[in-house]
Amino acid sequence: MMEFVQLRSFDNYIEANIVLNMLQHGDIVCHLKDENIITIDPFLSPAIGGMKLMVHHSQVARAWELMEKAEAQYLKTIACPVCKSHQLGLVSITKKHKCKLAAFASMVLNGRSVEKRKVYRCGQCGYDFKELP
Ligand SMILES: [Zn+2]
Repeated sequence: MMEFVQLRSFDNYIEANIVLNMLQHGDIVCHLKDENIITIDPFLSPAIGGMKLMVHHSQVARAWELMEKAEAQYLKTIACPVCKSHQLGLVSITKKHKCKLAAFASMVLNGRSVEKRKVYRCGQCGYDFKELP
């Protein structure tokens, strides 16, 4: 029986532990998997898919809720690099792959030929960015 499910993965040790602590403060039963391997050899991290955040299956919905809340709160503290307003939000965008080979690889790996990802968008000027400024 699988009691723990993988919620997401991290390449960054510090970020992983911030999220882990935040969830544990919210009474979520969770732990990091493959944490030790990455601490010893960071070059192995991409090969094994990063540190995995494992959450008890009965608390997955609550854990997502807490993570989204924390992220929304964090976003409020960041100013848009273009218009300096504090109205950043997370949105999902769908992008077509430019080359056919990438579209094919995506189809094989993810079961869809388009790329889905999340970007940060400014609610004031509409500016999109992949990484937080
Ligand atoms: Zn803006």
